[in-house]
Amino acid sequence: MILITGAAGYIGSQCALNFSINKYDDIVIFDNLSTGHIETVKKLQEINPKIQFIKGDLKNKEEISNVFNQYKIDAVIHFAALSQVGESVINPSLYYSNNVIGTINLLNSMVENNVLKIVFSSTAATYGEPEYIPIDENHPQNPINPYGNTKLIIEKVMDDFDKAYNLKSVRLRYFNVIGADEQTRVGEWHNPETHLVPNILKSVFKNDVKFKIFGDDYDTKDGTCIRDYVDVIDLCDAHLLALEYLKKYNKTDVFNLGTQEGQSVKEIFNISQDVTNQKIEYEIVEKRLGDPKILLANSLKARSVLNWQPKRTTFDSIKNAFEWEKSLNDKLKASN
Ligand code: UDP
Repeated sequence: MILITGAAGYIGSQCALNFSINKYDDIVIFDNLSTGHIETVKKLQEINPKIQFIKGDLKNKEEISNVFNQYKIDAVIHFAALSQVGESVINPSLYYSNNVIGTINLLNSMVENNVLKIVFSSTAATYGEPEYIPIDENHPQNPINPYGNTKLIIEKVMDDFDKAYNLKSVRLRYFNVIGADEQTRVGEWHNPETHLVPNILKSVFKNDVKFKIFGDDYDTKDGTCIRDYVDVIDLCDAHLLALEYLKKYNKTDVFNLGTQEGQSVKEIFNISQDVTNQKIEYEIVEKRLGDPKILLANSLKARSVLNWQPKRTTFDSIKNAFEWEKSLNDKLKASN
């Protein structure tokens, strides 16, 4: 059985779906529902009735420990985390206790129960301000915010747990994840929403919310920031491959997940207009604090070692995200 933490959230739910329709359908989900949604869990259980759900908090050692007593877990896919950079600056304590202490509780339970394989959601935010582009896995890790710090600390804890207890981890460092399930079964559902693509798309449905571009005087081709946008379904394929890699080689490793193609905020905005077939209103506002002008992955390692191949274009991802946003909007309207 696979334990997936945080599967009521955006990327975790997509992975639970992806694992379910591949050969790993024996799944237990552990989530405190602090940012994830019970509706998402129910949808996953509808698709895969074998999914077990435990509402619990990693900060509570007993709650996570009980999961290992109750189920025979072979490996863990660990998504559960707080992930808003801005919030982490304002409330670092929350981030260190939730992300770091929570993960240490999880790892301790794993070691106590001799479960020694974990795939971990890390992030390009562990690199901080890029010293060179594209960023490979050997790029220095100097996070510039508490969120990035928590993920880097966990990576280091995992290294030490490997040396001392033989716990093997594959760390996947995500770049900018976008998109949604092709059948709108799961998708991005944050409150508040801070990410680019959902913010553009939400402004289509809400007349009172104008989409804001954070700065257009960066030293880039069109003045807006450049990021590496990777599709969430492609990203989930990498998690399956990472689990198989762990099973086959029993080796700790790290992989960047990005497309190696940079797109500016304005380019993403233009593609969104094409997808929605609408002229979307926008305004240029102040730069957002801590936004590097460009982040771009070198993901050759994931391609050659894991045999990972991102397949979807940004247009595909935004199209799926738009369909999801429409269904979410209908759902929220109906429940009001
Ligand atoms: N961005 C923007 N308006 C928004 C949200 C994001 O202009 O409403 C920009 C942001 O400044 C960055 C890019 O879009 O350059 C991607 O931001 P996002 O928050 O999606 O991801 P991040 O790169 O912070 O992980």
